[in-house]
This record gives sequence, structure tokens and C-alpha cells, in this order.
Amino acid sequence: MNPATRASTYRLILFLVILAVLLLSIIISLYLHQIGEERTCSGVVIIDGDTFRDQEGNRVRLLGIDAPEKGEPFYRQASEKLTSLITKEPLLLKSGSRAYDRYGRILAFVYIETLLVNASLLEEGLARTYFFPEEFEDQELVEYLCAAQRRARAASRGIWSLPPPPAADRYFGNESSYRFHRPDCPSLKNADTLEFLRLLTRDEFLDRCFSPCRNCKP
Ligand SMILES: [Zn+2]
Repeated sequence: MNPATRASTYRLILFLVILAVLLLSIIISLYLHQIGEERTCSGVVIIDGDTFRDQEGNRVRLLGIDAPEKGEPFYRQASEKLTSLITKEPLLLKSGSRAYDRYGRILAFVYIETLLVNASLLEEGLARTYFFPEEFEDQELVEYLCAAQRRARAASRGIWSLPPPPAADRYFGNESSYRFHRPDCPSLKNADTLEFLRLLTRDEFLDRCFSPCRNCKP
């Protein structure tokens, strides 16, 4: 290969490398844009108080809350409340750190103009806070949702009007998962109890927006 040909081959390789880097950075920025995505949609089918199906058939799960399941008190009221809210369209969906959960559901904060639907359900006592720390890290939003739940509890609205489960002598709360447990809960057996907060009452855990464990139902 003569020097002129070699030089032009190097230039071609350099050009291709730059092109590849550019394409890769465009793909990465598109991907990052998709996380923290905003979209509008219309809700059509309510599945329960925290999940609905949009017009395109996507299931949308409201972030940061858990509404009563079928058969539990206030299931119907929570579903009706969500229905009455999301028929006011259009809805703006904002995702957190993860756009989808492992069931393929869109995880979202659902807004109608400035109204955050997720917080409205908490405000009425028709859902409780339910945080997965990996789903969103916005502490201001955590506090906003928690404040709505505190007001509902103070006013004994919805699920907070129900009698509490029998008291345990103490509870264990996991700060990294925002869950709290009875002392005999099987989930505590394999856990390093050092990472657990003790000495808090049920009310204190609820004030901090820890969610009761679904197994031991503290
Ligand atoms: Zn438990």
C-alpha cells in the first residue's frame, strides 16, 4: 500500500469511528430521554384504585401508592374515585427512575393540569403510600405524597377510619424498603436486623410513610 492510499484509508477509518461515536451518543441520549419520560394519554378502563388501562391498551400503575385490592374495604370507592378523576382528560404521565415495572406496566405520576392524581387518592384515604426506593428518588415528591397521607390519617378518612389491626409490642421498620413488620414476621428471619429501626410505634411508622408489610399486616 503506497503512503497516499494508506493515509486515505486512515482518514476513512477515522471518519467511520467518529460517525459511530456520534450515532452511539444519539442513541444513548434518546434512551436517557425515555427515562423520565412525559406523555399524554386518556384512561379508559379502571382496573383498581391504582391501575388503569389507557386507550392504546397500556396498563398504567400509579407510582408511590397502593390502593385496596378487590375484596378489601374501600376497593370500590378507590376505583370510583380514580374513574371520576381520570375521565377528565388529557392526562399527563410522568415516569420516575423506571418507566416500566416487570409486568410491563407503565409506572407513572398522573397529572390533570396541576392536580397529581396519586396524591388525590392519598388525600381521600383511598390508598396508602407505597414506595419502592428504586422507582423514584425525588424526596420532595415523597414528602408531598406523605403529607397527603398524614392529612387523611389525621381526619380518619377512608381506610384510616377502619379499626387498626391488633397491636404488637414492637415493630421493625426497614429504612431502605420503607416497610415495617411485626416482630414474628417471616420476612425478618433472613434479614440483618441491624439495618432495621426498632422502637417506633405503628403510628410513628405510618407518620413516616412506611408501608405495612403485606405478609404480617402490622
Ligand atoms: Zn412483615
